[in-house]
Amino acid sequence: MITHVLPTYNRANIAFERGEGSWAIATDGTRYLDLGAGIAVNALGHANPDLIAALTEQAGRIWHVSNIYQIPEQEKLADLLVEHTFADTVFFTNSGTEAAELAIKMVRKYWYELGDADREEILTFEGAFHGRSTGAIAAAGSEKMVKGFGPLMPGFRQLPFGDIEALRAGIGERTAAVMIEPIQGEGGIRPLSDADLREIRALCDTTGALLVLDEVQSGMGRTGKLFAHEFSGITPDIMMVAKGIGGGFPLGAVLATENAASGMVVGTHGSTYGGNPLACAVGARVMEIIAEPAFLAEVNRKAGLLRQRLEGVVAAHPEVFEGVRGTGLMLGLKCRLAPADLVKAGYAEHVLTVAAADNTLRLLPPLTITDDEIVEAVHRLDLAAARLEG
Ligand SMILES: *Cc1c(COP(=O)(O)O)cnc(C)c1O
Repeated sequence: MITHVLPTYNRANIAFERGEGSWAIATDGTRYLDLGAGIAVNALGHANPDLIAALTEQAGRIWHVSNIYQIPEQEKLADLLVEHTFADTVFFTNSGTEAAELAIKMVRKYWYELGDADREEILTFEGAFHGRSTGAIAAAGSEKMVKGFGPLMPGFRQLPFGDIEALRAGIGERTAAVMIEPIQGEGGIRPLSDADLREIRALCDTTGALLVLDEVQSGMGRTGKLFAHEFSGITPDIMMVAKGIGGGFPLGAVLATENAASGMVVGTHGSTYGGNPLACAVGARVMEIIAEPAFLAEVNRKAGLLRQRLEGVVAAHPEVFEGVRGTGLMLGLKCRLAPADLVKAGYAEHVLTVAAADNTLRLLPPLTITDDEIVEAVHRLDLAAARLEG
């Protein structure tokens, strides 16, 4: 008999009833050190007092207002995002998938308004993940996600990730946009080099194609910069944001330049909940905290400690691990065995991690994790790896 909750997830047999900072506490009282953070969502840890204050203060005033009215909480968050990024304008969504949908619509409308409606091909990359809507699965094009869900939305072509020659050969007059994650998350913490990202920007400039960056997982301080593309010095035309921006409250956004957004006039897009006052009040507090240079400096410092310790674990377990990759607190341990087995061994050592493609174990701790917690977490990973040896 089917479960009352649609059984699309292979769930671990653990239920959490509360959280404190980097700790998630299960219904049986077991305290787990959380290196998954809801897959990069709980960027400021569980039950963060600043976010509780922002949420409850807003909850006592007004929960929901239709987008047919002014929403000051939305404007405040948009101001913060524009102040700290390349963007001139922002649309709020409830998730990363919805941000991907709008990014695709924005690209298509841009070329339509320029009188070039045939310019409709968006280049995407193997191993990409942009969400689970019909548009987002067509964009990523992975066999696992699209099988059985055809006909797929046309207008996408996947190229090998990180292969600049393939992009140089594939991009052209019919390319509407290039859509890419600076660091693939679900794909296995696979980073583009700064040089490659600069080359992609240059190819877009030469051909006129728009550059759409998916920073849903890599953004909001995760890498030690507010957004991962900042390392390369380039800026996109459109960017998708979600996950960390709500700190656990459902929130996403599409950021864009005035030029890229020029087709999105009154009546072209909307959302009932997108930009909800509760979500935006929390999001604004998250932005105020994460965009502080001192906060990002701490993320970088702690990332250095975590990485150094992880290199030690990799060296100590050559049968289990191949290496560490990623940037900041978006790290992956490339495994020699199924990462799902390590995730399970981690449960036994009371440490939470997330499996990804390309045999990678993902570590995406709260950005507020302390030095002591980093040391303890790596100790537990060491014990988990030892369980799988011999
Ligand atoms: C998680 C993710 C998405 C989809 O976000 P949802 O909020 O699950 O819809 C899109 N792109 C990337 C890079 C992601 O990591």
